[in-house]
Amino acid sequence: MYNTVVYSIVVPLYNEELVIDENYMRLKKIMDSLKENYEIMYVNDGSKDSTMNKVEKICEKDKRIKLVNFSRNFGHQCAISAGMELSAGDAIIVIDADLQDPPEVIPQMIDKWKDGYDVVYGKRLKRKGESFLKKFTAKIFYRLLRSITNIDIPVDTGDFRLIDRKVCDTLSSLPERNRYVRGLVSWVGFKQTFVEFTRQERFAGASKYPLKKMLKLAFDGITSFSYKPLVASTYLGGLMFLLGLLAFIYVTAKNLYSHKTILTLGLILAINLCMFGLIFIILGILGQYIGRISDESKARPNYIIASTINYKENIKEVEPSEVKLN
Ligand code: UDP
Ligand code: MG
Repeated sequence: MYNTVVYSIVVPLYNEELVIDENYMRLKKIMDSLKENYEIMYVNDGSKDSTMNKVEKICEKDKRIKLVNFSRNFGHQCAISAGMELSAGDAIIVIDADLQDPPEVIPQMIDKWKDGYDVVYGKRLKRKGESFLKKFTAKIFYRLLRSITNIDIPVDTGDFRLIDRKVCDTLSSLPERNRYVRGLVSWVGFKQTFVEFTRQERFAGASKYPLKKMLKLAFDGITSFSYKPLVASTYLGGLMFLLGLLAFIYVTAKNLYSHKTILTLGLILAINLCMFGLIFIILGILGQYIGRISDESKARPNYIIASTINYKENIKEVEPSEVKLN
């Protein structure tokens, strides 16, 4: 069974009842046309709507469709990590459920894989139907991340990509929590290339990435691949200290010679507030790193599987009783 699957399509699902049927139809059409064996791994990340029931119905009709149900919502990055770990194919394609990543690009990725590339990522030329704020913040973030890390994380790429079995196994062997998968794919290396595509509008429903999840992902990306925020905090602290020292010398000298106070109470308060703000930002940056160190030391699993459908082999289910509570 293990070697018979050529392609594994990994699809994370969180409250996607409105798109799941269309997603299956579009993926099936494309994958059937390739005339090679494939599986579609739907990873249900704790959906609260009827996503699970809908996938169950698809699984009944089509045994190539596999469903992994998480015990709760663990997040997009955990869902795609689980899909990769449990997949059986020689090439694994990760794609969002909402059809923003067009399945029609998959054959182009496969062609590049057959040419010998181990990673083929989708590079977004345009993004349709997304707010100005989302596109702007994404653009800034990808460039910021690239400038502060030492690894070559391509800009304007999400998790829509094809990876070879050996890349998948390497990624799955990395034990880290708070995973920023697209960064890890760059970090592991191998022969990489890209195909360009236009990101479409969401087929139906609303984004499952509110600001809170986007910020978490952004901090995961930064803390996983760069210490520069910590270094910058040190320099900023040093600079502030120097400025403070100069101001102290200037004010003391002025007061000694002119016998009048030159700083008003309001100004002192304002400067103090700014300084406190800065200190808390730096503490917050420290906290982002320390919280993640704490996650690593607790070593809890990245996800818990409650049930699966159409799995016979390759299952690494975690019984909730096996999970140590710290
Ligand atoms: N998703 C998930 N868990 C989450 C949030 C999202 O599995 O906690 C899935 C979602 O169902 C979709 C993919 O991740 O397949 C990307 O989410 P979405 O399309 O909402 O993100 P956006 O395109 O708006 O950034
Ligand atoms: Mg989307």
